[in-house]
Amino acid sequence: MTRTVYVNGEYLPEDEAKVSIFDRGFLFADAVYEVTSVLDGKLIDFEGHAVRLDRSLNELDMPSPCSKDELLEIHRKLVELNGIEEGLIYLQVSRGSDGDRDFVFPAEGTPPSLVLFTQNKPGLADNPAAKKGAKIISIEDIRWGRRDIKTVQLLYPSMGKMMAKKAGCDDAWLIEDGHVTEGTSNNAYFVKNGKIVTRPLSNDILHGITRAAVLRLAEEAQMEIEERLFTIDEAKEADEAFTTSASAFVMPVVEIDGVQLGDGTPGPIAKRLREIYLEESRKKAI
Ligand code: PMP
Repeated sequence: MTRTVYVNGEYLPEDEAKVSIFDRGFLFADAVYEVTSVLDGKLIDFEGHAVRLDRSLNELDMPSPCSKDELLEIHRKLVELNGIEEGLIYLQVSRGSDGDRDFVFPAEGTPPSLVLFTQNKPGLADNPAAKKGAKIISIEDIRWGRRDIKTVQLLYPSMGKMMAKKAGCDDAWLIEDGHVTEGTSNNAYFVKNGKIVTRPLSNDILHGITRAAVLRLAEEAQMEIEERLFTIDEAKEADEAFTTSASAFVMPVVEIDGVQLGDGTPGPIAKRLREIYLEESRKKAI
């Protein structure tokens, strides 16, 4: 079955969907995105993703392509047209194009371009990788200074994943000024003596939608949380570690730079948070 995708007001077979070669998303990475997961054919944390999209657009003075209600309708229609039970919906808004390449933003009134497509991922919630846990490496964080804006500048995260792969690992955590910022595509946490430690929100990291939900659920479950800067050495000495993201939920980390955490299997807190997050998300899905 070919996928049906959405491009600027139209639902089309994926091989008929087109965007201009002058689109600023393509030429300047002048675009923002969101990824929303689908479980049981329903959207997880849609509200959070819609609010963050608005924030990203505002921070970059980019016009909004449509209302939140219209976005919800497009998401739902794509889920239906593509028969997605478990998977992801990718959304991208770029500043569009006024028909040529120019560093200067296009004239006011130039419509942004809006693209959405689905990825069918049966077994997303029951992912075997989460039972094994992830092995990570640490690398320097050389990204720009506004990581709180979810732009499509994903070259360095992509290179980080390749470095991890070459090292026989699953992912990389990024280090700036001696402290862990986040993972290439997720927020980073470690657990020591029952306390969950993660970096506080700032311009240095993406304000993860899954992070917000998981920290709220951890608090409700009376778990201790500390938001502070931490080093990779602290994480290596931890009892356990994990990451959060909309596409992998809560992913246990079992090895950092070749150092095994605990007994090398997913830790109890990461496993519990994954369970609670999936349970709550399914209940609240729309
Ligand atoms: N940090 C980065 C750099 C990311 O790319 C992502 C996922 N897009 C996250 C954190 C996690 O955010 P969320 O929980 O909203 O998916």
